[in-house]
Amino acid sequence: MLRKIYDGLPESLRKPAAFAFYYTVPFPYNRGLLFARIYKQLMETQYLDEQALQSLQLERLKHLLSHAYENTGYYKKLFAKYDFQPKKIQDFSDLSVLPRIILTREEINRNFDELVAQNYKCHKILLRTGGTTRVPMNFYVSETAYLTALACTQRQWHWAGVKPKDLIFVFRGGLVTKKAIRSRRFYERINNEVYFSTSDMNESVLERYVDMINKMKPAAIRGFPSCLQIISDYIMEKKLYVFSPKAIQTSSEVLLPEQRKKIESAFNSPVFDAYGNGEHTVIATECEKHQGLHLNQEFGYTEFVKVEDSQEGENIFKVVTTSLLNDAFVFFRYDTEDLVVLAESSCSCGRKMPLIKKIMGRCGDIIRCSDGRKISPVSFANFWVDNLRDNLKGIKYVQLVQEDFDFFVVKLVGVKDSGNEKLIRNVLPLLLGKNVRLEFEYLSCVPAGKKWRVTISKFQ
Ligand SMILES: [Zn+2]
Repeated sequence: MLRKIYDGLPESLRKPAAFAFYYTVPFPYNRGLLFARIYKQLMETQYLDEQALQSLQLERLKHLLSHAYENTGYYKKLFAKYDFQPKKIQDFSDLSVLPRIILTREEINRNFDELVAQNYKCHKILLRTGGTTRVPMNFYVSETAYLTALACTQRQWHWAGVKPKDLIFVFRGGLVTKKAIRSRRFYERINNEVYFSTSDMNESVLERYVDMINKMKPAAIRGFPSCLQIISDYIMEKKLYVFSPKAIQTSSEVLLPEQRKKIESAFNSPVFDAYGNGEHTVIATECEKHQGLHLNQEFGYTEFVKVEDSQEGENIFKVVTTSLLNDAFVFFRYDTEDLVVLAESSCSCGRKMPLIKKIMGRCGDIIRCSDGRKISPVSFANFWVDNLRDNLKGIKYVQLVQEDFDFFVVKLVGVKDSGNEKLIRNVLPLLLGKNVRLEFEYLSCVPAGKKWRVTISKFQ
């Protein structure tokens, strides 16, 4: 209904009308009736016990898979092949007849048309992910799944003590809009969020940003860990005063413990990490007790497949996901390519949604050594911090690119220095193996707006 009215307005009136609606109508109705219903439900289901959460998931899963069987060519064939009848699901164990991973990015690209639900008539959004480091992929997201993801984020703001309509500053990848690029403006205000360009954060831009934080006093800040780290480094280096928002939310990249510490001390504010993906199949959010990230079970059914040969001493799992709400394009047992460590105890906040202790997949690739060892990006980052970082001169960031089993390019953000190179040549083979060949490459700054991956392997 609201969408129809909005779509019927002339272009020039749409933005002012959306603004007026957003500010005058009380939350959550200012985001539309569907959003309001979803948000209210989420506020109720957050305190369900394990059993109730599981039956909610089972009910949604059964509905989704029956729908997939009836309305998509892909799942009709797949379920017939394994003689799997979604309507007969009694328990999650009934899924054991099916492969543990069904969809990969390549599989989706090969079967796009057959994955689109034929009966879906409501509003759906065509999205695209991937690009620089992963295979690009198109898919649809239903309006319900899309709005539920937004509502899960809003619920996390509630956990963080940030009120609806509070002012939020956003530091994520890239520049804001084409208009902003033309006019060399560095920020854009949308509703009560101010989006900042992170493409060219040199000293004078950073100075302006800190100045704006101090003047406008945002209730919260959200952004990529790497973007917030760059701002935090600047604040700490210049010993600047900066206003402390109520909370800082990080997402879209792995938040390293060291980054969390830096951001929290630069702003003197607590960090609330969040994990999700562009495919809208999984969301996990950190609560006010900061003991891990709660899986938002209302949104997705998440399975964890153990990864063999982990070097961490902890059990590492691959995250395999099913969106429970996307009936426009069914993601069932989709491989996120992300790795996590699960928390063994439950959270003291009282919410029973399971906890992820650590996310490992997004900050880089696993390095495979010629002697069969696998080194996680986090292990490499920790090794670098413990053995090299503080002994190097003028180096801010590192990226390790594995070209071949025994050949690596060490990309350094900083100034070329033979002393540094000598030290790295002495120390890094302790981790990568003694026969390793190293080459160096220098960058003047972190490639702006891109997700900075600490390790890249060219043969995944
Ligand atoms: Zn909690």
